[in-house]
Amino acid sequence: MTDAFSLPPEAAGPRLAVAAATLERLRTVPELAPRYAGLPDGVRTLDELAALPPLLKDDLNTALAHLEPRSDTAATWLFQSGGSTGAPKVGYAPTGFYMAGVHAHWPVLERSDVFANAWGAGRMWGAHFLAAALADRAGCRVIALGSITREEYPDWLAFLADRGVTAIGGTPSVLRLWFAHARAAGLELPALRKVLWLGEAWQPQLEEDLAAVAPGARRWGMFGSTETWVVGTNTPDCPADTFHPLPEQLVHAGPDGLLDFTTLNPEMLNPVLRYRTGDAGELTACPCGRPGRAMRVLGRRDNVVQVRGLGLHVDELIARAEREPGVSRAQVVITEDGGRATGVQVLLLTDPGAAVDPDALRAELLAGTFTLSTAFQHDPEHVTVHATGELLGNERTGKTAPFVVRGAPREPAATPAAATAAGEAS
Ligand SMILES: [Zn+2]
Repeated sequence: MTDAFSLPPEAAGPRLAVAAATLERLRTVPELAPRYAGLPDGVRTLDELAALPPLLKDDLNTALAHLEPRSDTAATWLFQSGGSTGAPKVGYAPTGFYMAGVHAHWPVLERSDVFANAWGAGRMWGAHFLAAALADRAGCRVIALGSITREEYPDWLAFLADRGVTAIGGTPSVLRLWFAHARAAGLELPALRKVLWLGEAWQPQLEEDLAAVAPGARRWGMFGSTETWVVGTNTPDCPADTFHPLPEQLVHAGPDGLLDFTTLNPEMLNPVLRYRTGDAGELTACPCGRPGRAMRVLGRRDNVVQVRGLGLHVDELIARAEREPGVSRAQVVITEDGGRATGVQVLLLTDPGAAVDPDALRAELLAGTFTLSTAFQHDPEHVTVHATGELLGNERTGKTAPFVVRGAPREPAATPAAATAAGEAS
């Protein structure tokens, strides 16, 4: 069973005292205590760890509401953690955001870099601040961009080119906007070498954008969540879905193919003990040749939705739509009435100036997707494809989900706030 962990027993063993301390904290949470009753005190071996029940997002939020952790050495920051509807659920981190370990194992930023931080800042989002903490460790120059509006891209791109920006970081969907606008404006970022990303899966279309806008740039990925913080990193030599876990993060691949995470960092404020993000994955050897077990992330298990009793593979539908020339990103919007799907819309975010034929794509998607052709056999007009200037985002989490479920029929021009993100990307 121990080969299901990212660290071998001899490396994990001395650090398991942190997991044991987390277990003691969780046992003080009244709502969670019963599930740990009857289990051995302490966590001495990886087998004992694997025998503990996994934690889900709601469990962690319940624990944090009771524990209200506080850093001994720094300010304690509150960040959005989990849940896609309602009021923000809260996760905690001290200033520094545990980026010392990332900096020690991930040679991406150097003192000579000029780094544009394009992760959104504010609204209790964590990524902008952890990237800033990494830049602080590297001692490079930082341009704190945050998010900008559609009209602002050309001016900011010209500014970034003028400043000789060598590195940029953001979620892949935000990076696609940056590079699509650069391509449309004929702008290049000749000094750009490094593209840092976190928050969603890498989008292969970004390689085409980079070839046009910044041929010298390569991708550098982080994997993590607001609950676990950064779990692992990769380099341009690794596949985009494969990450090397940090030694203070213990990754476990369960027999059901789901990953769970246990912190081995004594500074960690969130009680992360067999915490499941919902990501499926496996432990593997990375083709880059770096020794040790790497983590291959196979995507989220919740990207199959039930439509009229049939499973719709949202990722397959989106992948087909995004192969269409001129489509920079696609999103599936399912409209429900009383729990029954009344319609499926595919929204296409198109590159500026691109000519895309939604009707031709619609015919192909209907013919090629068993679930759509069968479920909408008698009312195929309720499967539609639209080109749009903006996908539906979740204003609260700042993420653009691959699929969105809406309660009442609306036109595609509905405001982003009207949407409930159901398939929030990690
Ligand atoms: Zn690798």
